[in-house]
Amino acid sequence: MKNLNKALKELNYNMLIDVHCHIDKLIEEGVSVENCIKNALKNDVKLMVVNGTNPNQNAIILELAKKHKEIKVALGIYPLDALKLSQDEIDKEIELIIKNKEFIVAIGEVGLDLKEEELHKTLDKQKANLTKFVNLAISLKKPVIIHSRKAELHTIELLEQLNAKKVIMHCFSGKMSLVDRITKNGWFLSIPANVNYNQQFQDVVKRTPLNNLLCETDTPYLHPLKEWPNEPANVIYSYKKIAEIKGITLKEAEKQIENNYKDLFE
Ligand SMILES: [Zn+2]
Repeated sequence: MKNLNKALKELNYNMLIDVHCHIDKLIEEGVSVENCIKNALKNDVKLMVVNGTNPNQNAIILELAKKHKEIKVALGIYPLDALKLSQDEIDKEIELIIKNKEFIVAIGEVGLDLKEEELHKTLDKQKANLTKFVNLAISLKKPVIIHSRKAELHTIELLEQLNAKKVIMHCFSGKMSLVDRITKNGWFLSIPANVNYNQQFQDVVKRTPLNNLLCETDTPYLHPLKEWPNEPANVIYSYKKIAEIKGITLKEAEKQIENNYKDLFE
């Protein structure tokens, strides 16, 4: 009987994947990472890709991944954090990433950010930093997870110039014509759980073929019910909204997105 139950459970196997979260930042919020992982597993979230944002956080999440098999790691430096580092410090971090390449599944979170007008004067430096990380991802044959706030076209042009193939555009907030360009390049868009209410992300889902979609939470940010903090267990809201918009069952959405993950990461 026990075996039968197990077999039935496997037949009905749900595997939700959060391809972009920062559960390390829950520690600062006083939230237990252990409980957060337990809650994710209870809710069928079997994989969480935690994205690094700077050398300190990269060290923390590498340790988390060594402790929990459900946690996968992307290492990188967030564009605004990279601006605070010297070239030497960035190169040192790249060396550390290469040394730990067997423990990571992707490079990220990296990208360009022009959220404020005054950041435009840092664009060349940001592009130089991003170039290093994209080339690193290409040389390690791993996907790169990209932040492109208010710099979507610059980011896409640079990725095209560098001939990047394995790309996830995370929380993409650019024009719909750029969504077409992303999918024509064979890249992926990861849809955050706040697509539950956010019209921009709902439009992105409408515009993107199912084959190019992944799901994320960006924990602790972007809670699907506007609460704080977010957690990977909430990634189900992305799946539900994608299923609704595409007119398919939740099961079909889960299966396809799991296949998309495998296509890109394996
Ligand atoms: Zn992020």
